[in-house]
Parts: sequence; structure tokens; C-alpha cells
Amino acid sequence: MSDNGKRGTARSPILVVGGGISGITAAIEAAETGFEVVLVEQNPFLGGRAIQMGKYFPKLCPPICGMEINFQRIRRNPKLRLYTQAEVKAVSGEPGDFEVTLHLAPRYVTQRCTACGKCVEACPVERDNAFNYGLDRTRAIYLPHPMSVPMKYVIDDSVCPGGTCARCVPACPAGAIELDNKSTILRLKVASIIMATGWRPYDAGTIENLGFGRFPNVITNVMMERLAALDGHTEGKITRPSDGKEARDVAFVQCAGSRDENHLPYCSAVCCLVSLKQALYVRGQNPDARVWIFYIDVRTPGCYEDFYLKVKADEGVRMVKGKVAVIKEDLPTRNLIVEAEDTSMGSKLKVPADLVVLATGMVPNQMDQKTATLLRCDEYGFMSSVAPKGGIYAGGVANAPADVAFCVRNSTGISLKAIQDVVRYG
Ligand SMILES: Cc1cc2nc3c(=O)[nH]c(=O)nc-3n(C[C@H](O)[C@H](O)[C@H](O)COP(=O)(O)OP(=O)(O)OC[C@H]3O[C@@H](n4cnc5c(N)ncnc54)[C@H](O)[C@@H]3O)c2cc1C
Repeated sequence: MSDNGKRGTARSPILVVGGGISGITAAIEAAETGFEVVLVEQNPFLGGRAIQMGKYFPKLCPPICGMEINFQRIRRNPKLRLYTQAEVKAVSGEPGDFEVTLHLAPRYVTQRCTACGKCVEACPVERDNAFNYGLDRTRAIYLPHPMSVPMKYVIDDSVCPGGTCARCVPACPAGAIELDNKSTILRLKVASIIMATGWRPYDAGTIENLGFGRFPNVITNVMMERLAALDGHTEGKITRPSDGKEARDVAFVQCAGSRDENHLPYCSAVCCLVSLKQALYVRGQNPDARVWIFYIDVRTPGCYEDFYLKVKADEGVRMVKGKVAVIKEDLPTRNLIVEAEDTSMGSKLKVPADLVVLATGMVPNQMDQKTATLLRCDEYGFMSSVAPKGGIYAGGVANAPADVAFCVRNSTGISLKAIQDVVRYG
């Protein structure tokens, strides 16, 4: 396609909203093709949900391996501008000529931060660690995770309003803490917009019979990822939240709130593969560990069938076709009993477990009201892949539940659509 000789001249950039694997992919592909890109992420770090995984299926390598290559591509590309703690507040205009208003929240820690951690020793305030899904706590000044990009501490001003005690300031040898930082507004002209705003886990507390929120040893699949992650608070040891003891007998409940009209009517596409992967985490830590997977049916499309067959062949993994009726807890020991039907055998089962993992699905993140209408959404909130007039596109899980491999392919394609707008109108 001709670009009317405009390559290299000043043209409006592409805006990518969301710094998960989908947004990162779209941004890098466009920037490496020579186009200006602005990537905005609401968290103080890049990587989205995928960076919180213990390992990726199917290769079972830690996510940081692949992510680090992407982070290097971002660092060395002058065409890509990154804003963390940034949110889109308003969008107006039309394809080729959008005006976007960004809200940039204060970090209170400047570029001078060397990530030495001395500030943490001085900080007296604690907060739930959202990165570990509340399984542990951090101080109000914290590094989001050990491989965080940017590698800088940040202050959670919801628990430390106005830098109340200011003890971190003299503790910082680099003089990097500025408690008078304020939020700022940035207005940008952009040619096209990619929405890669991803997902959040379904609220398992709403599934009453499964005990999440009441029984500490009933956790969700995202929490299991943090338990099994080498950079997590247990350094990868799969232990019970109630007492820190090793979890030897682990039960997985598939479709926890998914394919259920009272919760999420749709299939989140990855939960079967996730539980199969997590079964390998458990079995890999202790050859005597036993795993039960309760499922309605197993969905491992395409080449993932091999992965399913491999896990199924493990003698320590028992696959049971049947719905879990209820999970009960023995209060003094906090041990769990999973009551379920085995539809293949026509029998009822009571399975004792140290830990139960609920395979909860993915809920699309919604923008605020002003920007929610940028793209049409389906009845569940997943965005259509292109706006009616063009110029705005959705990539990755913002568009549909999917694994990382799909998100990378899909976002690469979406990036091309955004580039076409820059060339057409730029
Ligand atoms: C338990 C579990 C385990 C999984 N394990 C695997 C696995 O092993 N292998 C695999 O291939 N897939 C796995 N997946 C799927 C994988 O997590 C997703 O495919 C991936 O996270 C999708 O990336 P994304 O960028 O589309 O969304 P996200 O990872 O959700 O990233 C979206 C980003 O956008 C940001 N954002 C949202 N709204 C805004 C806004 N308004 N402004 C600015 N930023 C915003 C978010 O903060 C986030 O950083 C797993 C899923 C689950 C539930």
C-alpha cells in the first residue's frame, strides 16, 4: 500500500490502551514498522495478567522469559512512548484525528530510584498485595514485582494519603521520593486507537456452594499461579493459605461460575488448560501428591490435545466427569471435603483435599462510561474488533477470552489495521 510519501514525516501516533501481552504486542509491532506509538497502562507496571502467571502452557516456562524480550524491544525503540498509571479519560474526533485525554496518576518515586528497597524498611504502613491476589501484604511503598517494568518503587496513596509520615523520604539514598507529586492531564492527537484492556478474574465469592471467601484453603486459579510462581511469596511452594503446610491432595473444580446462567454463561477458553498445567505444578513438587480434576467436559482445542493426554496419563491425576455439589470444611484442621457426582460411574464421591482450586473464568475489563461506548460490546462486555466507523480496534481478551498465543496473533493483526489508518489519514 502506498503511504503517499509520508513515511518519516510527523504523523499522529497510534494509541494502545492496556499494557498486557496484547497491548505490548500491538505497540511493538507498530513501532518496529516505523510508526509512532503511545502505550498507556493503568497499573504501575507492564505485563498485565500474564506476568502474574507461574508458568505458561504449553511450554511451561516462566512468563518473564518471553516478556523480557518484549521489554527490551520497548526500551530500545524511540518510537514507543510508555505511560504507566495512565488512564484514558475522554476520546473525541474521528479516524485519523482523535483527541484523547489521559489522566496520569502520581508515582511519588522518580527516575532516580535504584530499587534498593531501603524505603520499605522505613515504611510502617501495610497493604494487601494485589499482585499476589491478596495472599500476602506489602508496605505502602513497594516494588510491584521483582522484574517490574519500570523497575521503580511506587506509593499506594490509598493507604498513605499525602505521604502522611514521610519516613521513606530520608531513607532513600538516591533522593528519589517526591511526596508532592500531583496527577496530571495529558491531551494527545492520535490517528487510531487499539483497546487491549484485557480481563479480571470472576468473583468466586458469588458462588456460594464452593466456599471461596469462607474457607481459606479454597483458592482461585489466579491465586494458584501466584502460589506456584518462583517470584511469589512462597517462592513457588504450593502451600495451604491457612497454615503454610504443603498441599498434597489438591482438587480442581472446573467451570467454577462458567457456563452457568447464574454467573458467566460463556466458556473462558483457557481454564481447562490452566488446571491441567496447575496439576503438573502440584505433581512436579511431590511425586506422592494426588490431584483430582472435576469437569463438565474438557476443552483443549487444536494442538493442546497432546497436553491434555499427557496430564491425563499421569497416574497421580484423576479426572472425574461430574459437577461439584458442595465443598465443606473441617473447622479445626481446615481440611476440605469435595462432594461431587461421578457421572461416568453413576456414583457420589466425597474427596478429602488440602487445597481446592476453583477454575474461574475471565471477565472483560470495562472502560468508564465516557469511553465505554468507543466500541460496541457483546452481552458479556467483550468488545467488537472494530468500531462502526473504523479507527478503533480491540485486541486480545478485550475482544474474546483467549490464551497468550491467540492474543499475540490477534494483536499483531490489529496493529496492521491501526497502521493502515495512520497511512490513510496521517
Ligand atoms: C489462571 C489463568 C492462567 C492462565 N495461564 C495461561 C497460560 O499458561 N498460557 C496462556 O497462553 N494463557 C494463559 N492464561 C490466559 C492469559 O492470562 C491471557 O491470554 C492474557 O492475560 C491476555 O492478555 P491481554 O493483554 O489481552 O489482557 P491482560 O493480561 O488483562 O492485560 C490488559 C492490561 O490492560 C490494562 N488496562 C485495563 N483497562 C485499562 C484502562 N482503562 N486504561 C489503561 N490500562 C488498562 C490492565 O491493567 C492490564 O495490564 C491464563 C488465564 C488464567 C485465568
